[in-house]
Amino acid sequence: MRGLLVLSALFVAVFGKVTFEGDQVFRITAKDAEQIALLKELPEEMLGLDFWMPPSRASLPVDVRVPFESLQAVRAYLAYHQIPYHVMIENVQALLDVEQRQMVQYRNFPRSTDDFVYTTYHDLDSIHGFMDMLVAENPDLVSKTEIGKSYEGRPLYLLKFSTGASRPGIWIDTGIHSREWITPASALWFAKKIVTDYGRDPILTDVLNSHDIFLEIIANPDGFAYTHSNDRMWRKTRKPNPGSSCVGVDPNRNWETGFGGPGASSNPCSQTYHGPSAHSESEVKAIVDFVKSHGNLKTFVSIHSYSQMLLYPYGYTSSPAQDQAELHELARKSITALESLYNTAYTYGSVITTIYQADGITIDWTYAQGIKYSYTFELRDTGFHGFLLPAEQIVPTAEETWLALMAIIEHTKNNPY
Ligand SMILES: [Zn+2]
Repeated sequence: MRGLLVLSALFVAVFGKVTFEGDQVFRITAKDAEQIALLKELPEEMLGLDFWMPPSRASLPVDVRVPFESLQAVRAYLAYHQIPYHVMIENVQALLDVEQRQMVQYRNFPRSTDDFVYTTYHDLDSIHGFMDMLVAENPDLVSKTEIGKSYEGRPLYLLKFSTGASRPGIWIDTGIHSREWITPASALWFAKKIVTDYGRDPILTDVLNSHDIFLEIIANPDGFAYTHSNDRMWRKTRKPNPGSSCVGVDPNRNWETGFGGPGASSNPCSQTYHGPSAHSESEVKAIVDFVKSHGNLKTFVSIHSYSQMLLYPYGYTSSPAQDQAELHELARKSITALESLYNTAYTYGSVITTIYQADGITIDWTYAQGIKYSYTFELRDTGFHGFLLPAEQIVPTAEETWLALMAIIEHTKNNPY
């Protein structure tokens, strides 16, 4: 593993960008708990494996990106233990090349948010430009504040959609895992949708006449910039870990509630490393401080990809949340709305019962702060492209997700607490 790490570090140093030529994504369908246990024993670091969906239970597939150099070893291991699998992505780099070409093709210099291209992925500068245009075009509705700085000193911007002072708030964040590009891409579309629908759509207008909506489009800007400049597969923050050559903390394992439990890793090289202490990441701390100082958020939605799921607390314990019945029913209503548009099938439930135990996650903390409507989405797809969702799916994904969000937002408005 040291060899592989050194090799990829070298690639970054020499060529700027890590390449994924010949890497494949395997979908492994373990038959039983014993096979899941065998998958957990794979020497992840030595082989340079990147679990997109880690082994949890036999009913859920395991998706793993296998570097070209490790293909033979992993195939042999799976064959030896008779664990079924198939290749989901033949060559990861080929998908990245398509994505890059598409971005170059649609690159423009929009003069307004009407000119902005919603059907392609954007880099940080372009997204910041979008925010400034949106604020300039809608000064009475939208404002931008900085709630902190990232480890590398980038501003953490928050858009606020508001028509009056001192109102309860609805929070939506995207991009906290930087490689999940579909989430900020969808958020740009949501932002435009809000300014377009205010004054036209009666439900959204009602909501904005009594509530503020907060949107943090890039919750992990260092990671996001790094996915553009160096490594498209980067998930974590970019803070170095003392005593380790591995960089970054999983910002969705860094929260106080359940911090350090078994559904997170204490290994700085892991994709789910929880960090040295709760709220150690400035990107997390900025949200914590905002939530506490605001003190009146009613809804908190943190958006991820992929898997097509709508999840509510808890991730750290299998005890049901106090509001489980209401959260479950609202999740059902929300995904029913989502599915009505393009028949995209979603599953829903608590994090621990629907995917796996996850400790120190955002929504367990927000729920513990008394924000009843705390949800996490896992957007498209179910693994066919995984984190490399083709750009032509951005707008359909945003459109359907918006219907689900509106169901939650409308419920918030109609059920004050
Ligand atoms: Zn995520």
